[in-house]
Parts: sequence; structure tokens; C-alpha cells
Amino acid sequence: MSDTRFVDGGCLCGAVRFRLALPSKWCAHCHCTQCRRFHGAGYVTWAGFESDRFELLEGQDALRWFNSSPGAERGFCGTCGSSMLFRSERWKSEAHVVLGSLDGPIDRAPEAHVFHDTCVDWMALDESLPRVQPTD
Ligand SMILES: [Zn+2]
Ligand SMILES: [Zn+2]
Repeated sequence: MSDTRFVDGGCLCGAVRFRLALPSKWCAHCHCTQCRRFHGAGYVTWAGFESDRFELLEGQDALRWFNSSPGAERGFCGTCGSSMLFRSERWKSEAHVVLGSLDGPIDRAPEAHVFHDTCVDWMALDESLPRVQPTD
């Protein structure tokens, strides 16, 4: 596994640090209303990884989980409030990570818009990307 590349990430205050082993599975802009509100952003860009490719390096105590819908939790730093992670029963084997929480680039660019039906009208989008519904 000498060719495995890693990308680290974390929160604004530095209490939570994590590491991801590439490759990722996907990358997409999410326009759902929960992402918008939780992050305070027009949309949120997520990357999906097999969950065993996610390793929490620091912040076991700082990392908090908010139960945002049945079977789904959003991970954030309890000290600075940075929202970084998502996990759910629907995608049990995946760790979803906010691209903006990473220190550097991953192995792919955003590929799609999901939940585009609830997108805001005050932010320009990359119209070259397909609009898809999340799949299992
Ligand atoms: Zn923090
Ligand atoms: Zn979303």
C-alpha cells in the first residue's frame, strides 16, 4: 500500500483532526435544506469515502454528533462549531466529509449536484455538472 495517498482535514480551532486514505468514492455539491442550514452556506460540497478510509487523529472529545434526521448524524466541533462530517444508516459503509474541511485537494473534482430541486437562486452554479438524486 505504499502508493496510498492521504489527505488530512479538521475544524477551524484545530481540536478535531482526521485523515482520509484515497481514493474517494464520489464528490458532489449538496443543495438540501439541511446542509444549507447546518453549514450556513448556499450549498455544501461533500466527498464520500469507504468508512474504513476515515481515521480520527485528534478530537475524540471535541467531535460532537447532531442527529439531523432519522438514522443520520452530522459531525461538528463542539469547541468552534465547524461542521465537517455526515454519517447515516442509509450509507452505512461510507464516511461523508465536507470538502472545505480538508487541508488539500482530493483525487477528483465535484461531479454532480444533488437535491438540486431545493437550490437557492442567489448563487451561481456550475451548470455543466449533471443534476442527480442520491443513490445507495
Ligand atoms: Zn474546532
Ligand atoms: Zn445535503
